[in-house]
Amino acid sequence: IKKIGVLTSGGDSPGMNAAIRSVVRTCAYHNIECIGIYRGYQGMIEGDFKEMGPRSVNNIVNKGGTILKSARSKEFMTKEGRQKAHQNLVSAGVDALVVIGGDGSFTGAEVFNEEYGFPVMGIPGTIDNDIFGTSHTLGYDTALNTVVECIDKIRDTASSHNRLFFVEVMGRDAGHIALNAGIGAGAEEILIPEEDLGLDRLLESLQKSKASGKSSSIVVVAEGEKMGKNVFQLKDYIEEHLPEYDIRVSVLGHMQRGGSPSCYDRVLASRLGVKAVESLLEGKTNFMVGVLADKIELTPLEQAIKGHSEIDRELLRVSDIMST
Ligand code: ATP
Repeated sequence: IKKIGVLTSGGDSPGMNAAIRSVVRTCAYHNIECIGIYRGYQGMIEGDFKEMGPRSVNNIVNKGGTILKSARSKEFMTKEGRQKAHQNLVSAGVDALVVIGGDGSFTGAEVFNEEYGFPVMGIPGTIDNDIFGTSHTLGYDTALNTVVECIDKIRDTASSHNRLFFVEVMGRDAGHIALNAGIGAGAEEILIPEEDLGLDRLLESLQKSKASGKSSSIVVVAEGEKMGKNVFQLKDYIEEHLPEYDIRVSVLGHMQRGGSPSCYDRVLASRLGVKAVESLLEGKTNFMVGVLADKIELTPLEQAIKGHSEIDRELLRVSDIMST
């Protein structure tokens, strides 16, 4: 392998830039060339490439987002689109690919590898932490810190006005952000897709906490429907049944995806980038590099895509005990 292409695809996350930097510099360290591909697979189809030397990634380790931009590409879902992309890579002399993204991006990489035998390596970049084969995805730790900081601020106003706040956080179909940030920020209740608390238990718990003398509360709600209701419908339901509560909803939204990456995400990105490039140089392909028990490990892309990243059930118990 003489030239590696790197791209970011799907939703952006803090730490992607640190990963790009790591891939570029690891290539330079091993005296091979590196090409940055803009706008994910769409840029691959359009030949939107740029040579990247070690100085091209100065001052980005601390930046959120991705300097290579990200995109979702419908065209890459077609055989014709992938053929164009392949031709462009061959013309540019690129002979392996590092894909930084989520499971959709990994599926694209796998399909591409299957069709052309093109060496691919995935780096998990998403705040949702919903990928099998890694305890942490890039951006997850930063997002947790952002969410905790926001909830701390919401708590100030909640306690000044004796209010109950429903705070909706990201995570798509996974409750990792809600559960961990909820515990970190001292939430009264945490509603996640993996566990159906039940409306009766939620009412009971809120009643109990009022009776125990708590004057304000935070309920962290993972995005999507919980118990058949979205966060606003949940608020209406609780207000109807517990009129003594004054409830507000705060949807944190895209701020959770931005910001300067935490030290943890920067270090993880650096480690994953090194492993991704060095694994390709060792002739490995079709893997995702991830972190398990603080070791950098390879997981076959297929497993990373199909496997389920379980939440830590013990954390549910911890959360219950903490809201006593
Ligand atoms: P996020 O976790 O932020 O959603 P993601 O990587 O899962 O990130 P997707 O939008 O699902 O994001 O996928 C990114 C891109 O990967 C798609 O826009 C598409 O170009 C490519 N892709 C996804 N699935 C396939 C597929 N089955 N075949 C070919 N390409 C695919």
